[in-house]
Amino acid sequence: MQKRTKQIFLAGWVSIILNLLLFLLKYWAGLISGSIAIIADAWHTLTDSLSSVILLIGIKISKKKPNVKRPFGYGRAELISSIVIGVLLAMIGFKFFQESILKLINGGNEIFGKTAIIVTIISLIVKEVMAQYSFYIARKTKSVSLKADAWHHRSDAISSLVILIGIFISPYVPYVDAILGILVSCFIFYTAFDIFKDAVNPILGEEPGKELIDELNKITSTVSGYDVKLHHVHIHNYGNHKELTCHIVLPPDMRLSEAANIADTIEKKILEDLNIVATIKKEPYK
Ligand SMILES: [Zn+2]
Ligand SMILES: [Zn+2]
Repeated sequence: MQKRTKQIFLAGWVSIILNLLLFLLKYWAGLISGSIAIIADAWHTLTDSLSSVILLIGIKISKKKPNVKRPFGYGRAELISSIVIGVLLAMIGFKFFQESILKLINGGNEIFGKTAIIVTIISLIVKEVMAQYSFYIARKTKSVSLKADAWHHRSDAISSLVILIGIFISPYVPYVDAILGILVSCFIFYTAFDIFKDAVNPILGEEPGKELIDELNKITSTVSGYDVKLHHVHIHNYGNHKELTCHIVLPPDMRLSEAANIADTIEKKILEDLNIVATIKKEPYK
């Protein structure tokens, strides 16, 4: 395995184990305090563990080489797994939103004891440490999904902080647990939406960024020796495999073999420098 993949896998396993332990702790604290907010947060943590499992499977599958049946490789497997996680989280968010509203209407008593306080503080610290660790590995490996993961850990830490504040004000404010439950549900919805959005955009297709266009312009002008007026750039993102189509403009009396040569050279350079498979359409000056 590559060093980069190894680091991502290690981060994944750390996340699976720590989240599983946190789930057990929080679930226990939620049960003995009767707090819906802490139980909702516990289930969120369990899906965090599950999403790391799915992420690792996704990476494994996306490592498979392209073949006749899958000419663009398996890179989008990672995106599909993210969509599954997003839907799962949204369902959990919905369930606890419903239960929190019911608790708001019907009431119910929860006693936030020392256990709830200690478990929430542990969760806050562990999640922030996980965020720091993931940010560090993401910087080293330049992994976008790991960086998103790091932000997720941080938002989990914030959610624990909100619960902690809620526990301390609960003797003075009524309905705190139901309100916290609604807040935690909103956190879960937000996370689900974020995961969903990041997976759906590359599948539906995105605009090429300005950085990429600048990079392409640099390549085309240095390689061709002409002002080829690069335009109509489309990018198709398959995770670790990217395809690009674009148009270039050449003098109308140029020989076809020469024009093809120029396009070939540009395509090769794009593959070398940007790791993108390009297909270039040639047009005459008007
Ligand atoms: Zn989470
Ligand atoms: Zn054109």
